[in-house]
Amino acid sequence: MRNTARQTRENRTITIDFQNEATYMPLLGDGKAFLECVLAFVMSLGFQLKHKATCGGGGCLTRHSHYVRVRLGGVTIWRIQCTTCRAVFTILPHFILRYRQMRPEVARDALLATHGGLSLELCAVISHISPMALYRLVCAFGHQSLVAVLTRCDLPLPPYFLADEKHSRCLTEKVYLPTIVRGRVLWHLGYTTEASAVAFTQSYGEFQRAASQQEPTYQVKGVLIDGFDSTAKSLRTLFPRARLGNCLRHALNKLPGKLTAIPSAMRKTLRAQFHTLLYRARQRKSLRVFALGQRLRHFADYVATTAGTANGARVRRWFQDKKAGWYAVLEDPQMPVTSTLLDQAHNAIERKLFAMKGFHHPDGSQQAFLTGLAHLYNLIPYQRRAKHAGLCGVEVEGGTVPTRDWLLNLQILTSGGFR
Ligand SMILES: [Zn+2]
Repeated sequence: MRNTARQTRENRTITIDFQNEATYMPLLGDGKAFLECVLAFVMSLGFQLKHKATCGGGGCLTRHSHYVRVRLGGVTIWRIQCTTCRAVFTILPHFILRYRQMRPEVARDALLATHGGLSLELCAVISHISPMALYRLVCAFGHQSLVAVLTRCDLPLPPYFLADEKHSRCLTEKVYLPTIVRGRVLWHLGYTTEASAVAFTQSYGEFQRAASQQEPTYQVKGVLIDGFDSTAKSLRTLFPRARLGNCLRHALNKLPGKLTAIPSAMRKTLRAQFHTLLYRARQRKSLRVFALGQRLRHFADYVATTAGTANGARVRRWFQDKKAGWYAVLEDPQMPVTSTLLDQAHNAIERKLFAMKGFHHPDGSQQAFLTGLAHLYNLIPYQRRAKHAGLCGVEVEGGTVPTRDWLLNLQILTSGGFR
C-alpha cells in the first residue's frame, strides 16, 4: 500500500474546473484548446504555477505526455511542461481526486458527514467506501499547509490570534493539539506528545515558519492565551514582540474556584461584582493600567473583608499572577478579549478525534489528518447564523474562495502545483 505521507518528487498537480465531463473529453483531442482552457482557469483564480526555483515562469507551456487512469474507467490525464525550466504539471480535471479512485461526489458526502461529527466508520458505511479510504483522503488534503491554503484565499496573516492546546488521547497516551485561531479560521492545528514549552515551540514554530515564508516581514501584535506556562513561554520565544493577553472570560470563570468555605450566594455575588469590574475596564476608552491595578487591589481587600482573609490573600496572589495578561488585553483595543471562538473550534475538532480513535495510533500520520480536518473546518460552508448563512469560515473572515463548490475549492486550494 502506498504511504501517502511520503512524497518522492515535487507535487505539481493542479485541479482544473472543466465545468463537466462532457467539456473535458473533446478537449483531449485539441492540444491548443486544452492549454488555453487550463491557463484561462489558472488566470481566473489569480494563481501562479509553481515552476522550478530558477524559472520566472514567463516561458511557454506545452502538452507533455498523458496517461490513462484505468480504474477510473480509462480517463486520460494530461501533463503539461514549462519549456524553460522543464517543470511538469499534472492536470487533474475537477471530477478526479488525486491518486484516488473515489469520485468527488462520494468524497463530498463522506467528508461532510465527517465534518458533522459522524464516525469515520459510519461515514464510510453511508458512502460505500472503506473507513481507511476516508481517513487517507482527509490525510491527503492535509499535506498542504493551512497557511498556504488560507493565503491563497487572500486572507492576510493574522496580526492577532488565539492560541491554546487541546488535550486529547492517543490510545492511552495523553497528547496535545496546539491550535491557532483567528475568528472562524484555524491557522494551525498541531500535534505533540508532551506539554513542554519545547514541544509547543516546535509546533507553533511550524506556523511561524510557514507564515514568514509567505511574508518575511510578518509580525504578530497580540496573542490571547489561557495563561498556561508552556504556551506563554513558547509564544514568547517565537514572537518576542507580541503582546500576550489572558482571556477575560476564563478569569471570570476561575474566580469562584479561588473562594473556598463561603456560602454559594456570596460566591455568586463576588463573581458578579468581578464581572462588572472587568466590564467597566473594557468600556473605558483610555484605560490607564494603574486604574485597573487599583481596582483589583480594592476588590481583593473587599474579598478579604467579606469572605475572610484567607480568600482575600488567595485572590490577591492570583491577581498578581494574571494581571499582566489582563492589562495586555485591555491596553490594545484590537486584542481579542475572549477565547470563545477557539473553544468552539476545539469542540468541533473533538468529535472527530473521538471518531478517529481507530486510526489514532502512534504510527499514524496524525499531523496530516488534523490539518485535513482543519481544512474542512475552514472551507465547509457550515455557518448557521443568518448573517453568514451558507458561508465558510474563510469567507466570514473576508477571504475569497475560487468557486461556489466547497469540495472543488478544497481540491483546487490544496493542489501542489500552485505558488
Ligand atoms: Zn518554468
